[in-house]
Amino acid sequence: MDFQSLGLIDPLLRAVSEQGYDRPSPIQAQAIPSVLEGGDVMAAAQTGTGKTAGFTLPLLQRLEPGKPAGSRQVRALVLTPTRELAAQVGESVVEYGKYLPALRSAVVFGGVNINPQINRLRGGVDVLVATPGRLLDLYQQKAMSFDQLEILVLDEADRMLDMGFIHDIRKVLRLLPKQRQTLMFSATFSNEIRTLAKTLVRNPKEIDVSPRNSTAERVRQWVVTVDKRHKAALLTHLIGDQQWFQVLVFTRTKHGANRLAKQLENAGIEAAAIHGNKSQNARTRALAGFKSGDVRALVATDIAARGLDIDQLPQVVNFDLPNVAEDYVHRIGRTGRAGADGEAVSLVSGEDQKLLKGIERLIKQPIERRQVSNFEPPAVADIPDDREPRSRPNGSRPGSRSGNAPANKGGGQRRSAPRDADGKPAPRRRRRGGGGQRGGNGGNRASRG
Ligand code: AMP
Repeated sequence: MDFQSLGLIDPLLRAVSEQGYDRPSPIQAQAIPSVLEGGDVMAAAQTGTGKTAGFTLPLLQRLEPGKPAGSRQVRALVLTPTRELAAQVGESVVEYGKYLPALRSAVVFGGVNINPQINRLRGGVDVLVATPGRLLDLYQQKAMSFDQLEILVLDEADRMLDMGFIHDIRKVLRLLPKQRQTLMFSATFSNEIRTLAKTLVRNPKEIDVSPRNSTAERVRQWVVTVDKRHKAALLTHLIGDQQWFQVLVFTRTKHGANRLAKQLENAGIEAAAIHGNKSQNARTRALAGFKSGDVRALVATDIAARGLDIDQLPQVVNFDLPNVAEDYVHRIGRTGRAGADGEAVSLVSGEDQKLLKGIERLIKQPIERRQVSNFEPPAVADIPDDREPRSRPNGSRPGSRSGNAPANKGGGQRRSAPRDADGKPAPRRRRRGGGGQRGGNGGNRASRG
Protein backbone atom coordinates (compact mmCIF):
# COMPACT_ATOMS: atom_id res chain seq x y z
CA MET A 1 0.00 0.00 0.00
CA ASP A 2 1.32 3.45 -0.85
CA PHE A 3 0.08 6.99 -0.42
CA GLN A 4 -1.01 7.29 -4.08
CA SER A 5 -3.54 4.54 -3.69
CA LEU A 6 -5.24 6.42 -0.86
CA GLY A 7 -6.48 9.02 -3.30
CA LEU A 8 -4.33 11.93 -2.26
CA ILE A 9 -3.62 14.69 -4.78
CA ASP A 10 -0.16 15.46 -6.13
CA PRO A 11 0.77 18.47 -4.03
CA LEU A 12 0.15 16.43 -0.91
CA LEU A 13 1.97 13.37 -2.25
CA ARG A 14 4.99 15.51 -2.99
CA ALA A 15 5.03 16.89 0.52
CA VAL A 16 4.65 13.40 1.99
CA SER A 17 7.48 12.01 -0.03
CA GLU A 18 9.69 14.91 1.07
CA GLN A 19 8.99 13.87 4.63
CA GLY A 20 10.52 10.54 3.72
CA TYR A 21 7.43 8.47 4.47
CA ASP A 22 7.43 5.33 2.31
CA ARG A 23 4.07 3.95 3.17
CA PRO A 24 1.04 4.99 5.15
CA SER A 25 0.85 3.87 8.75
CA PRO A 26 -2.22 1.79 9.64
CA ILE A 27 -4.15 4.78 10.96
CA GLN A 28 -3.35 6.72 7.80
CA ALA A 29 -4.38 3.83 5.56
CA GLN A 30 -7.80 3.84 7.17
CA ALA A 31 -8.38 7.45 8.13
CA ILE A 32 -7.29 9.14 4.90
CA PRO A 33 -9.86 7.51 2.56
CA SER A 34 -12.60 7.83 5.16
CA VAL A 35 -11.99 11.53 5.69
CA LEU A 36 -11.76 12.09 1.95
CA GLU A 37 -15.22 10.56 1.58
CA GLY A 38 -16.54 13.36 3.72
CA GLY A 39 -18.12 11.49 6.62
CA ASP A 40 -17.39 11.81 10.31
CA VAL A 41 -14.61 9.73 11.79
CA MET A 42 -13.88 8.54 15.28
CA ALA A 43 -10.40 7.07 15.58
CA ALA A 44 -8.53 5.42 18.42
CA ALA A 45 -4.89 6.21 17.90
CA GLN A 46 -2.08 7.24 20.14
CA THR A 47 0.70 9.67 19.63
CA GLY A 48 3.34 7.97 17.53
CA THR A 49 0.93 6.24 15.18
CA GLY A 50 1.07 8.94 12.52
CA LYS A 51 -2.40 10.19 13.38
CA THR A 52 -1.54 13.82 12.69
CA ALA A 53 -0.89 13.14 9.02
CA GLY A 54 -3.90 10.82 9.16
CA PHE A 55 -6.23 13.76 9.58
CA THR A 56 -4.15 16.66 8.25
CA LEU A 57 -3.56 15.29 4.75
CA PRO A 58 -7.18 14.53 3.86
CA LEU A 59 -8.34 17.68 5.61
CA LEU A 60 -6.09 19.78 3.40
CA GLN A 61 -7.36 17.98 0.34
CA ARG A 62 -10.99 18.60 1.26
CA LEU A 63 -10.33 22.29 1.68
CA GLU A 64 -8.09 22.62 -1.31
CA PRO A 65 -10.16 23.60 -4.29
CA GLY A 66 -12.65 25.58 -2.23
CA LYS A 67 -13.27 29.22 -1.85
CA PRO A 68 -10.75 31.22 0.15
CA ALA A 69 -11.71 32.00 3.71
CA GLY A 70 -13.50 35.31 4.10
CA SER A 71 -12.50 37.97 6.57
CA ARG A 72 -12.00 36.44 10.04
CA GLN A 73 -13.40 33.14 8.83
CA VAL A 74 -12.03 29.71 9.73
CA ARG A 75 -12.59 26.81 7.35
CA ALA A 76 -11.13 24.00 9.44
CA LEU A 77 -10.57 24.00 13.17
CA VAL A 78 -8.25 21.59 14.98
CA LEU A 79 -8.57 21.59 18.78
CA THR A 80 -5.69 20.21 20.84
CA PRO A 81 -5.19 19.90 24.58
CA THR A 82 -1.70 21.40 24.86
CA ARG A 83 0.34 24.22 23.42
CA GLU A 84 3.06 21.83 22.33
CA LEU A 85 0.66 19.66 20.44
CA ALA A 86 -0.97 22.71 18.85
CA ALA A 87 2.42 23.94 17.69
CA GLN A 88 3.32 20.56 16.27
CA VAL A 89 0.04 20.08 14.45
CA GLY A 90 0.49 23.61 13.11
CA GLU A 91 3.91 22.67 11.79
CA SER A 92 2.47 19.57 10.15
CA VAL A 93 -0.18 21.67 8.42
CA VAL A 94 2.53 23.91 7.01
CA GLU A 95 4.74 20.98 5.99
CA TYR A 96 2.06 18.88 4.35
CA GLY A 97 0.43 21.92 2.79
CA LYS A 98 3.54 23.50 1.38
CA TYR A 99 2.64 22.77 -2.26
CA LEU A 100 -0.96 23.87 -1.94
CA PRO A 101 -1.25 27.35 -3.36
CA ALA A 102 -2.22 30.08 -0.91
CA LEU A 103 -3.04 27.84 2.00
CA ARG A 104 -3.40 29.97 5.11
CA SER A 105 -3.07 28.49 8.55
CA ALA A 106 -2.58 29.73 12.10
CA VAL A 107 -1.85 28.30 15.51
CA VAL A 108 -3.21 29.91 18.66
CA PHE A 109 -2.68 28.99 22.29
CA GLY A 110 -2.57 30.72 25.64
CA GLY A 111 0.41 31.99 27.58
CA VAL A 112 1.54 34.29 24.80
CA ASN A 113 0.43 37.71 23.57
CA ILE A 114 -3.01 37.55 21.98
CA ASN A 115 -2.63 40.54 19.64
CA PRO A 116 -0.48 38.91 16.96
CA GLN A 117 -3.01 36.09 16.92
CA ILE A 118 -5.85 38.53 16.37
CA ASN A 119 -3.93 40.10 13.50
CA ARG A 120 -3.17 36.77 11.97
CA LEU A 121 -6.85 35.80 11.94
CA ARG A 122 -8.04 39.06 10.44
CA GLY A 123 -7.74 37.93 6.84
CA GLY A 124 -9.31 34.54 7.57
CA VAL A 125 -7.56 31.17 7.63
CA ASP A 126 -8.10 27.81 6.01
CA VAL A 127 -6.84 25.89 9.02
CA LEU A 128 -6.77 27.07 12.60
CA VAL A 129 -5.08 24.93 15.25
CA ALA A 130 -6.05 26.01 18.75
CA THR A 131 -6.21 25.14 22.40
CA PRO A 132 -9.76 25.59 23.70
CA GLY A 133 -9.24 28.38 26.26
CA ARG A 134 -7.43 30.76 23.94
CA LEU A 135 -9.87 29.99 21.16
CA LEU A 136 -12.75 31.15 23.34
CA ASP A 137 -10.86 34.29 24.37
CA LEU A 138 -10.25 35.13 20.75
CA TYR A 139 -13.84 34.48 19.86
CA GLN A 140 -15.01 36.83 22.58
CA GLN A 141 -12.79 39.47 21.14
CA LYS A 142 -14.47 38.85 17.79
CA ALA A 143 -11.20 37.77 16.24
CA MET A 144 -12.87 35.03 14.24
CA SER A 145 -16.14 33.61 13.14
CA PHE A 146 -17.21 30.16 12.07
CA ASP A 147 -19.87 30.73 9.41
CA GLN A 148 -17.60 29.07 6.84
CA LEU A 149 -16.45 26.24 9.05
CA GLU A 150 -16.38 22.96 7.15
CA ILE A 151 -14.31 20.64 9.31
CA LEU A 152 -13.71 20.21 13.04
CA VAL A 153 -10.95 17.97 14.41
CA LEU A 154 -10.72 17.10 18.07
CA ASP A 155 -7.22 15.78 18.67
CA GLU A 156 -6.37 13.74 21.78
CA ALA A 157 -9.93 14.06 22.98
CA ASP A 158 -9.29 11.80 25.96
CA ARG A 159 -6.53 14.07 27.16
CA MET A 160 -8.77 17.09 26.76
CA LEU A 161 -11.28 15.49 29.09
CA ASP A 162 -8.49 14.55 31.53
CA MET A 163 -7.37 18.13 31.56
CA GLY A 164 -10.83 19.42 32.33
CA PHE A 165 -11.62 21.04 28.99
CA ILE A 166 -15.05 19.54 28.65
CA HIS A 167 -16.90 22.81 29.32
CA ASP A 168 -14.71 24.74 26.94
CA ILE A 169 -15.26 22.10 24.29
CA ARG A 170 -19.00 22.31 24.72
CA LYS A 171 -18.85 26.09 24.45
CA VAL A 172 -16.85 25.84 21.25
CA LEU A 173 -19.30 23.33 19.80
CA ARG A 174 -22.16 25.76 20.31
CA LEU A 175 -20.35 28.28 18.11
CA LEU A 176 -19.91 25.94 15.16
CA PRO A 177 -22.33 25.25 12.33
CA LYS A 178 -24.18 21.96 12.72
CA GLN A 179 -23.48 21.11 9.12
CA ARG A 180 -19.82 20.12 9.14
CA GLN A 181 -17.44 17.18 9.03
CA THR A 182 -16.13 16.13 12.44
CA LEU A 183 -13.09 14.00 13.18
CA MET A 184 -12.38 12.84 16.67
CA PHE A 185 -9.06 11.29 17.69
CA SER A 186 -8.47 9.76 21.06
CA ALA A 187 -5.96 7.32 22.51
CA THR A 188 -8.81 5.21 23.84
CA PHE A 189 -12.57 5.11 23.62
CA SER A 190 -13.59 5.39 27.23
CA ASN A 191 -17.20 5.77 28.31
CA GLU A 192 -16.70 9.50 28.67
CA ILE A 193 -15.33 9.72 25.18
CA ARG A 194 -18.32 7.84 23.82
CA THR A 195 -20.66 10.17 25.67
CA LEU A 196 -18.89 13.17 24.22
CA ALA A 197 -18.98 11.57 20.79
CA LYS A 198 -22.77 11.41 20.87
CA THR A 199 -22.96 15.19 20.80
CA LEU A 200 -20.11 15.56 18.37
CA VAL A 201 -20.04 13.09 15.50
CA ARG A 202 -22.80 11.74 13.30
CA ASN A 203 -22.71 8.14 12.10
CA PRO A 204 -18.99 8.13 12.46
CA LYS A 205 -16.75 5.62 10.83
CA GLU A 206 -14.94 4.01 13.73
CA ILE A 207 -11.28 3.25 13.31
CA ASP A 208 -9.24 1.45 15.89
CA VAL A 209 -5.77 0.60 14.79
CA SER A 210 -4.18 0.61 18.14
CA PRO A 211 -4.48 -2.49 20.08
CA ARG A 212 -3.16 -0.65 23.07
CA ASN A 213 0.07 -2.48 23.27
CA SER A 214 1.04 -2.31 19.63
CA THR A 215 3.82 0.12 20.41
CA ALA A 216 4.86 -1.92 23.37
CA GLU A 217 5.76 -4.80 21.14
CA ARG A 218 8.39 -2.86 19.26
CA VAL A 219 10.05 -1.49 22.35
CA ARG A 220 12.57 -3.37 24.44
CA GLN A 221 11.35 -2.99 27.98
CA TRP A 222 12.95 -3.80 31.28
CA VAL A 223 12.68 -2.71 34.84
CA VAL A 224 15.37 -2.27 37.43
CA THR A 225 14.35 -2.87 40.96
CA VAL A 226 15.97 -0.36 43.24
CA ASP A 227 15.54 1.28 46.58
CA LYS A 228 13.60 4.47 45.98
CA ARG A 229 16.25 6.68 47.55
CA HIS A 230 18.84 5.49 45.08
CA LYS A 231 16.90 6.07 41.91
CA ALA A 232 18.69 9.29 40.97
CA ALA A 233 22.09 7.71 41.49
CA LEU A 234 21.02 4.66 39.51
CA LEU A 235 19.81 6.80 36.65
CA THR A 236 23.09 8.70 36.60
CA HIS A 237 24.91 5.40 36.52
CA LEU A 238 22.75 3.97 33.73
CA ILE A 239 23.08 7.04 31.52
CA GLY A 240 26.84 6.68 31.63
CA ASP A 241 27.06 2.93 31.64
CA GLN A 242 24.52 2.32 28.88
CA GLN A 243 25.68 5.34 26.90
CA TRP A 244 22.33 6.97 26.61
CA PHE A 245 22.74 10.26 24.83
CA GLN A 246 19.13 11.26 24.37
CA VAL A 247 16.91 10.06 27.12
CA LEU A 248 13.41 11.20 27.98
CA VAL A 249 12.77 10.69 31.68
CA PHE A 250 9.30 10.69 33.19
CA THR A 251 8.51 11.78 36.71
CA ARG A 252 5.11 11.89 38.28
CA THR A 253 5.25 15.48 39.47
CA LYS A 254 6.59 18.84 38.35
CA HIS A 255 8.52 19.16 41.55
CA GLY A 256 10.04 15.74 41.02
CA ALA A 257 11.03 16.73 37.50
CA ASN A 258 12.81 19.86 38.70
CA ARG A 259 14.58 18.02 41.47
CA LEU A 260 15.75 15.21 39.25
CA ALA A 261 16.99 17.59 36.55
CA LYS A 262 19.07 19.33 39.21
CA GLN A 263 20.44 16.05 40.54
CA LEU A 264 21.47 15.00 37.05
CA GLU A 265 23.08 18.38 36.39
CA ASN A 266 24.99 18.05 39.65
CA ALA A 267 26.23 14.69 38.46
CA GLY A 268 27.52 16.27 35.27
CA ILE A 269 24.69 15.22 32.94
CA GLU A 270 23.13 17.98 30.87
CA ALA A 271 19.48 17.94 31.83
CA ALA A 272 16.37 20.07 31.57
CA ALA A 273 12.91 19.78 33.05
CA ILE A 274 9.77 20.38 31.04
CA HIS A 275 6.35 20.72 32.61
CA GLY A 276 3.26 22.88 32.80
CA ASN A 277 4.76 25.47 35.16
CA LYS A 278 7.49 26.35 32.71
CA SER A 279 7.00 29.24 30.36
CA GLN A 280 6.48 28.49 26.72
CA ASN A 281 9.94 29.87 26.04
CA ALA A 282 11.60 27.63 28.58
CA ARG A 283 9.84 24.60 27.17
CA THR A 284 10.76 25.45 23.61
CA ARG A 285 14.37 25.99 24.64
CA ALA A 286 14.53 22.70 26.55
CA LEU A 287 13.06 20.80 23.63
CA ALA A 288 15.40 22.43 21.13
CA GLY A 289 18.39 21.61 23.34
CA PHE A 290 17.21 18.05 23.62
CA LYS A 291 16.74 17.66 19.89
CA SER A 292 20.14 19.17 19.12
CA GLY A 293 21.90 16.93 21.63
CA ASP A 294 22.96 19.69 24.04
CA VAL A 295 20.54 18.38 26.60
CA ARG A 296 21.17 14.72 27.26
CA ALA A 297 18.26 14.06 29.62
CA LEU A 298 14.88 15.72 29.29
CA VAL A 299 12.82 15.23 32.43
CA ALA A 300 9.10 15.57 31.87
CA THR A 301 5.72 15.01 33.42
CA ASP A 302 3.14 13.07 31.45
CA ILE A 303 1.14 16.07 30.40
CA ALA A 304 4.15 18.08 29.27
CA ALA A 305 5.51 15.13 27.32
CA ARG A 306 2.24 14.42 25.64
CA GLY A 307 2.69 16.76 22.73
CA LEU A 308 6.43 16.44 22.19
CA ASP A 309 7.24 15.44 18.68
CA ILE A 310 10.65 13.90 18.73
CA ASP A 311 11.56 11.55 15.94
CA GLN A 312 13.35 8.34 16.66
CA LEU A 313 13.75 8.82 20.35
CA PRO A 314 15.94 5.91 21.41
CA GLN A 315 15.41 5.90 25.13
CA VAL A 316 12.62 6.42 27.62
CA VAL A 317 13.04 6.07 31.37
CA ASN A 318 10.22 5.87 33.86
CA PHE A 319 11.82 7.36 36.92
CA ASP A 320 8.40 7.04 38.52
CA LEU A 321 5.84 4.64 37.18
CA PRO A 322 2.67 6.43 36.13
CA ASN A 323 -0.39 6.08 38.34
CA VAL A 324 -2.47 5.08 35.36
CA ALA A 325 -1.31 2.05 33.41
CA GLU A 326 -2.39 3.53 30.06
CA ASP A 327 0.10 6.33 30.58
CA TYR A 328 2.87 3.76 30.54
CA VAL A 329 1.89 2.88 27.00
CA HIS A 330 1.80 6.56 26.04
CA ARG A 331 5.21 7.08 27.56
CA ILE A 332 6.96 4.22 25.89
CA GLY A 333 5.16 5.16 22.68
CA ARG A 334 7.63 8.04 22.57
CA THR A 335 10.28 5.57 21.49
CA GLY A 336 10.39 2.84 18.89
CA ARG A 337 8.45 4.96 16.42
CA ALA A 338 7.99 4.28 12.79
CA GLY A 339 9.70 0.94 13.00
CA ALA A 340 12.80 2.16 14.81
CA ASP A 341 14.09 0.27 17.80
CA GLY A 342 13.38 1.76 21.16
CA GLU A 343 14.11 0.96 24.73
CA ALA A 344 12.08 1.76 27.81
CA VAL A 345 13.47 1.29 31.29
CA SER A 346 11.52 1.69 34.50
CA LEU A 347 13.07 2.24 37.91
CA VAL A 348 10.85 0.36 40.27
CA SER A 349 10.91 0.38 44.03
CA GLY A 350 8.97 -1.79 46.41
CA GLU A 351 6.00 0.52 46.52
CA ASP A 352 5.68 0.47 42.74
CA GLN A 353 5.09 -3.26 42.50
CA LYS A 354 1.35 -2.94 42.32
CA LEU A 355 1.50 -0.35 39.54
CA LEU A 356 3.93 -2.57 37.69
CA LYS A 357 1.55 -5.49 37.83
CA GLY A 358 -1.25 -3.30 36.50
CA ILE A 359 0.95 -2.31 33.57
CA GLU A 360 1.84 -5.89 32.79
CA ARG A 361 -1.82 -6.80 32.84
CA LEU A 362 -2.60 -4.00 30.39
CA ILE A 363 0.17 -4.77 27.92
CA LYS A 364 -0.42 -8.48 28.39
CA GLN A 365 3.22 -9.30 28.74
CA PRO A 366 5.64 -9.58 31.61
CA ILE A 367 8.47 -7.07 31.69
CA GLU A 368 11.96 -8.32 32.25
CA ARG A 369 13.45 -7.57 35.69
CA ARG A 370 17.08 -6.66 35.95
CA GLN A 371 19.29 -5.73 38.80
CA VAL A 372 22.23 -3.41 38.56
CA SER A 373 25.07 -4.29 40.75
CA ASN A 374 25.53 -2.02 43.74
CA PHE A 375 21.97 -0.89 43.34
CA GLU A 376 20.19 -4.02 44.42
CA PRO A 377 17.19 -3.24 46.55
CA PRO A 378 16.98 -4.68 50.01
CA ALA A 379 16.30 -8.36 49.64
CA VAL A 380 12.69 -8.92 50.46
CA ALA A 381 10.39 -11.81 50.15
CA ASP A 382 7.52 -11.23 47.75
CA ILE A 383 5.50 -8.30 48.91
CA PRO A 384 1.78 -8.78 49.05
CA ASP A 385 0.09 -6.58 46.48
CA ASP A 386 -1.59 -4.10 48.66
CA ARG A 387 0.04 -4.33 52.01
CA GLU A 388 3.28 -3.44 53.55
CA PRO A 389 5.72 -6.26 53.96
CA ARG A 390 5.00 -8.22 57.05
CA SER A 391 8.58 -8.35 58.10
CA ARG A 392 10.96 -5.53 57.50
CA PRO A 393 14.15 -7.07 56.35
CA ASN A 394 17.49 -5.54 55.81
CA GLY A 395 17.10 -2.90 58.39
CA SER A 396 20.64 -2.20 59.32
CA ARG A 397 22.71 -1.91 56.24
CA PRO A 398 25.83 -0.10 57.18
CA GLY A 399 27.35 2.83 55.44
CA SER A 400 24.70 3.67 52.90
CA ARG A 401 22.60 6.21 54.61
CA SER A 402 23.43 9.52 53.14
CA GLY A 403 22.75 11.20 49.84
CA ASN A 404 22.41 9.12 46.77
CA ALA A 405 25.03 6.56 47.55
CA PRO A 406 23.74 3.16 46.63
CA ALA A 407 23.30 0.56 49.24
CA ASN A 408 25.90 -2.03 49.81
CA LYS A 409 24.78 -5.42 48.85
CA GLY A 410 22.22 -6.48 51.30
CA GLY A 411 22.90 -10.18 51.45
CA GLY A 412 22.40 -12.01 54.69
CA GLN A 413 20.41 -9.29 56.29
CA ARG A 414 16.96 -10.50 55.73
CA ARG A 415 16.22 -11.18 59.30
CA SER A 416 17.40 -8.04 60.94
CA ALA A 417 14.85 -5.75 62.48
CA PRO A 418 14.44 -2.16 61.40
CA ARG A 419 16.72 0.18 63.22
CA ASP A 420 16.98 3.90 63.46
CA ALA A 421 20.07 5.96 62.74
CA ASP A 422 21.53 5.05 66.08
CA GLY A 423 21.10 1.40 65.44
CA LYS A 424 18.22 0.98 67.84
CA PRO A 425 15.15 -0.91 66.78
CA ALA A 426 12.72 1.61 65.43
CA PRO A 427 8.97 1.70 65.17
CA ARG A 428 7.80 1.23 61.62
CA ARG A 429 6.30 4.47 60.65
CA ARG A 430 8.45 7.02 62.29
CA ARG A 431 11.91 6.22 61.15
CA ARG A 432 13.48 8.76 58.93
CA GLY A 433 16.29 7.94 56.60
CA GLY A 434 17.30 4.92 58.60
CA GLY A 435 18.70 1.85 56.96
CA GLY A 436 16.46 -0.43 55.05
CA GLN A 437 13.60 1.92 54.83
CA ARG A 438 11.51 0.70 52.00
CA GLY A 439 9.88 3.00 49.58
CA GLY A 440 6.21 3.13 50.29
CA ASN A 441 6.33 3.92 53.95
CA GLY A 442 4.53 6.98 55.06
CA GLY A 443 7.58 9.06 55.83
CA ASN A 444 9.21 8.41 52.53
CA ARG A 445 6.16 9.20 50.54
CA ALA A 446 5.87 12.58 52.13
CA SER A 447 9.13 13.62 50.55
CA ARG A 448 7.81 13.09 47.07
CA GLY A 449 7.08 16.29 45.22
P1 AMP B 1 2.04 11.35 15.24
O1 AMP B 1 1.44 10.07 15.73
O2 AMP B 1 1.14 12.08 14.33
O3 AMP B 1 2.51 12.19 16.40
O4 AMP B 1 3.32 10.99 14.35
C1 AMP B 1 4.40 10.33 14.89
C2 AMP B 1 5.66 10.47 14.04
O5 AMP B 1 5.62 9.60 12.93
C3 AMP B 1 5.90 11.85 13.51
O6 AMP B 1 7.24 12.17 13.80
C4 AMP B 1 5.70 11.74 12.02
O7 AMP B 1 6.56 12.61 11.34
C5 AMP B 1 6.03 10.29 11.76
N1 AMP B 1 5.24 9.70 10.64
C6 AMP B 1 3.95 9.98 10.34
N2 AMP B 1 3.54 9.23 9.31
C7 AMP B 1 4.58 8.47 8.93
C8 AMP B 1 4.77 7.47 7.90
N3 AMP B 1 3.79 7.12 7.08
N4 AMP B 1 5.98 6.89 7.84
C9 AMP B 1 6.96 7.23 8.68
N5 AMP B 1 6.85 8.16 9.66
C10 AMP B 1 5.66 8.77 9.79
